[in-house]
Amino acid sequence: MTTKCFNPYEMAQEQFDNIADKLGLEEPAKELLRTPMREYHFNIPIKMDDGKVKVFKGFRIQHNDARGPCKGGIRFHPQETADCVKALSMWMTWKCAVADIPLGGGKGGVICDPHNLSQREQEALCRGWIRQIVRDIGLSKDIPAPDVMTNAQHMLWMMDEYETIAGSKNPGVITGKPVGMGGSLGRTEATGYGVVFVLREAMKELGMEPGKTTASVQGFGNVAQYAIELFNQMGGKVKVVSCWSQKENKAVALRKENGIDLRELQPITNRFGDIDIRKAQDLGYEILDGDKWLEEDVDVLIPAALENSITVENADRVAKSVKIIVEGANGPTTPEADDMLTKRGVMLIPDFLANAGGVICSYFEQVQSNMNYYWTKEEVLGKLDDKMTSAFYAVLDLSKRKKVNMRDAAYMIAISRVADACRLRGWI
Ligand code: NAD
Repeated sequence: MTTKCFNPYEMAQEQFDNIADKLGLEEPAKELLRTPMREYHFNIPIKMDDGKVKVFKGFRIQHNDARGPCKGGIRFHPQETADCVKALSMWMTWKCAVADIPLGGGKGGVICDPHNLSQREQEALCRGWIRQIVRDIGLSKDIPAPDVMTNAQHMLWMMDEYETIAGSKNPGVITGKPVGMGGSLGRTEATGYGVVFVLREAMKELGMEPGKTTASVQGFGNVAQYAIELFNQMGGKVKVVSCWSQKENKAVALRKENGIDLRELQPITNRFGDIDIRKAQDLGYEILDGDKWLEEDVDVLIPAALENSITVENADRVAKSVKIIVEGANGPTTPEADDMLTKRGVMLIPDFLANAGGVICSYFEQVQSNMNYYWTKEEVLGKLDDKMTSAFYAVLDLSKRKKVNMRDAAYMIAISRVADACRLRGWI
């Protein structure tokens, strides 16, 4: 999402303006919702391992908290910008609203490259970030989580710093913690399984039998692997997966007519989701160019790797057999490509509905941490299924009633819910 003149915040605002007009939203609501309610920009001075002090730039943006405390990740990235964090905080508001969880949208970040920081320096940065924002986050205000280049260890350091300053235990202040230290079972599976929960319902709607359904998947990371696992359990067959190959320095697709075998590919995949191509070839996989995943003659496409994958340039190469596209990744389909595919009759389940499993499970983690009582994995995944399924039907029903595509319907529901909360509170 970082081409020369691409500004994600402008895109988020354009999307909002478009739906606000369709909803006939009043001016004060538009003005309030098209920008964040609060922005915190701060310096984090860190004593580096060589004894010198380096000052890092940190952010926390709280887009809207009318439906509940803000929720959203913290990114550590060298190219982080305030505009990117603002856009992401806005999208979090809509994602929590469409999933109907009582949370608002937030996002945070630090401009840094963790590859060039020692563990001690990263710990200092996590603790420094909390010290700057401690007054403005908390169980009832804003609950951060991991995102790009931050993980469970970073969350634990942040939780510890918060608790040290507060002088009390507050595990619900942050999510994405390790299981056993306040984390939730089921979080690892949540996004990929959530993708397939909504896919299952879409197949019911279209009268498709999962056992006779084929799919092609872009990506073989966390989201893709768990989506494939559950799709296989339902009897579906994945014919193609694609991934980035570090060795080849390009994207590749792996094809097996009888269906790829998750259990044989996982041991030859690294932690970044890159499959060892030579070993896959030895296992009988056909190796194709990376973009071939999209041309496969299948019923379902699951883009679960990165943004901007299905565009006007390649949307006409999507096979005629494809009936459903379920967006596991964020922003994999451009709006123009979305229009082209919708006109062809493809049901496209948009990212902020399809991949909401992660934030729903983060909400469950927060609830469990606050109760200090933890559910079994089955309980977590059962509750996740209920939430994803009802969110899917709310969007499907509105898309039929208003004769709009699923993405517009999802936005309409999310924005209406947040605007209603603002009105009920008497803000507008
Ligand atoms: P990941 O890093 O675990 O895996 C990414 C996968 O994409 C890897 O298999 C990588 O090889 C592949 N890939 C990278 N470039 C590619 C290319 N050009 N062509 C084909 N494959 C390529 O990431 P993830 O956690 O699975 O996330 C995937 C997407 O889902 C991202 O857009 C992420 O923002 C989104 N998402 C993830 C979660 C979550 O809980 N993990 C939640 C919501 C949204």
